[in-house]
Amino acid sequence: MNVIDLRSDTVTKPTAVMLKAMSSAEVGDDVYGEDPTVRNLEAMAAQIMGKQAGLLVTSGTMGNLVAALTHTNKGNEVLLEADSHIYYYEVGGLAAVGGLMPRPIQGDKGSISVRVLRDALRPANIHFPRPSLLCLENTHNRAGGTVMPPQAVAEVASYAREQGLKVHLDGARIFNAAIALGVEAPELADKCDSVMFCLSKGLGAPVGSLLVGDSDFIAQARKWRKMLGGGMRQAGVIAAAGLIALEQMRERLAEDHDHAKLLAAGLAAIPKLTLDLANVQTNIVVVKLDPSLSTPAILAELAQNGVLASDFGPDLLRFVTHKDVSRQDIEDALAIIARVSR
Ligand SMILES: *Cc1c(COP(=O)(O)O)cnc(C)c1O
Repeated sequence: MNVIDLRSDTVTKPTAVMLKAMSSAEVGDDVYGEDPTVRNLEAMAAQIMGKQAGLLVTSGTMGNLVAALTHTNKGNEVLLEADSHIYYYEVGGLAAVGGLMPRPIQGDKGSISVRVLRDALRPANIHFPRPSLLCLENTHNRAGGTVMPPQAVAEVASYAREQGLKVHLDGARIFNAAIALGVEAPELADKCDSVMFCLSKGLGAPVGSLLVGDSDFIAQARKWRKMLGGGMRQAGVIAAAGLIALEQMRERLAEDHDHAKLLAAGLAAIPKLTLDLANVQTNIVVVKLDPSLSTPAILAELAQNGVLASDFGPDLLRFVTHKDVSRQDIEDALAIIARVSR
């Protein structure tokens, strides 16, 4: 059976070009700073994002945690969106590893406005932890892959910096945001002190994320990465695929967005499913199930018929389009989903 895997864009397999580049990568010991392929990737990542320096990390989760540790001190408050990946899906690392106090604030489709941030920030007082970091997320996963336009990012990030905070952007899917908005990535990163983005999602690399920022920040982040056990040796093998991901795989994300729109339009026509088409801005589609359907039962029946999706909370399913699903796969998946969700 042909399985149409729409659980996540992390399921993408490396391309033939990536595998070839990996097998012939020039490598060295990266903890000694001697892996030329890693150095190339870090420099390219920084340049693409308009920052001074970059750091290859094993995962987005590690990149976000390293950024938070670098920007803060123990006991500080970290303001972040209540449904953000860092708060929701990163195992409580801010608290458990960083000794940090997460302060979830309610966004609008994943965006945090100046007004909401202003209301959440408390004046200096002996009772309150010191707020030191704002985290943004673009695209926003749990909001359904929604984008935050450059002006909105710049406004809230500039305000946060005026208040003495650092700003970290969780840009796991930043290139999806850039393509959907028709802007270059640095416009979305401009007022942010650091940005993390993933190579291992829609860009198709097998492993790795990048953290970028100014040179001092990255020098400190490199030490935190080492402490967390993320210093890698001949990591050029991984970086070689990452270089291909950045060079060859960004533009094609537009195709995934077209497929998501096609999928969403089809799902919206199924009586027991509801979704807001205006929310389908990139490669993620979240649908709400009629109360007569059970999420685990639907997911199991879909899987039996060769369609994989994710449980996204009570009555919610998430579908993610990516390079390894074709237009035909989307049409086939729609027919199966319509049959199963009667
Ligand atoms: C996937 C994701 C991450 C974490 O990346 P991993 O490599 O899976 O650890 C962080 N933030 C967002 C928004 C994500 O979607």
